[in-house]
Amino acid sequence: RAESERSAAHSPAKTRDGRHIEVCANIGNGQEASHAVDEGADGVGLMRSEFLFLERQEAPDETSQREQYQMALDGMGGKPVIIRTLDIGADKQLTYLRMMQVPNPALGVRGVRLWQTEPQLLDTQLRALLGVTPLEALRIMLPMVTEVAELRQVRQRIEAIAGELGLAQRPQLGVMIEVPAAALCAASLAQEADFFSIGTNDLTQYTLAMDREDPSLAARADVLHPAVLRLIHATVEGAAGHCPVGVCGTSAGDPLAAPVLVALGVNELSTEPARIPAIKAALRRLDAAALAHHMPELLAMDDAMAVRERVADILAQAN
Ligand code: PEP
Ligand code: MG
Repeated sequence: RAESERSAAHSPAKTRDGRHIEVCANIGNGQEASHAVDEGADGVGLMRSEFLFLERQEAPDETSQREQYQMALDGMGGKPVIIRTLDIGADKQLTYLRMMQVPNPALGVRGVRLWQTEPQLLDTQLRALLGVTPLEALRIMLPMVTEVAELRQVRQRIEAIAGELGLAQRPQLGVMIEVPAAALCAASLAQEADFFSIGTNDLTQYTLAMDREDPSLAARADVLHPAVLRLIHATVEGAAGHCPVGVCGTSAGDPLAAPVLVALGVNELSTEPARIPAIKAALRRLDAAALAHHMPELLAMDDAMAVRERVADILAQAN
């Protein structure tokens, strides 16, 4: 059974009601891309570029960054690769960036917010990204976006650099939806973003005010909390007709949460490579439209535990 699941992982995942869901891989460096292909990845849904910047004395230069980005694209052999710009701050710090010590780094200067004070770091990363081929396969994604001005600023830099480099093409530019404000203002962001990817780890943390690193809250910091599900619903509604919506948080690899995300209208899931076969198998068993009929009931429930139990019931009855 495990073997047939593995070989099925290399074909696209279609739900019982005929929706095609892309199941992609989260990776931390260029080398991991070819392993992700072996597991059946339809693309890379999140390359966390910060791993290239950690545990070093200085930031990686343009050439060494480009090598890693190109390796990810080559490993994927033309399938789409979403590379996230540096997401530093909060839990991850760099010794060569003297960032102010603040009491609440999770609410401080992290993700795109860093570009206000470190524009040259952004420019180097964008130059490295714009140097890869083919540009059609590359998607650039911005972490911790709160409002559309942050997206505009980066798009302007991409325009300027692509102009200098004489490029005819521009890669797609998308945003992560991981701050509640972004979910609630999704319609505004969707006017200018080429795609959304919901970061459910941070979206859950910031919605429930529960630190994702706090073990005593781990059981309750659950994406299936109705408040988080409502924000995902708002994101999909805001994006409708403008840009596609994926999920790249841990929930995309959760066999109970993934069907709920798809029933809410998400069309791409990105997870650890090893989880891809099982998630594709779960999607093939899913009637997303039937589960969507239960959504008003699920969104009105008291807590995540109640949603988990109800979804498990619904899925068990359907199979
Ligand atoms: C997330 O927040 O869900 C996410 C995918 O990003 P990270 O876990 O790197 O913060
Ligand atoms: Mg995040």
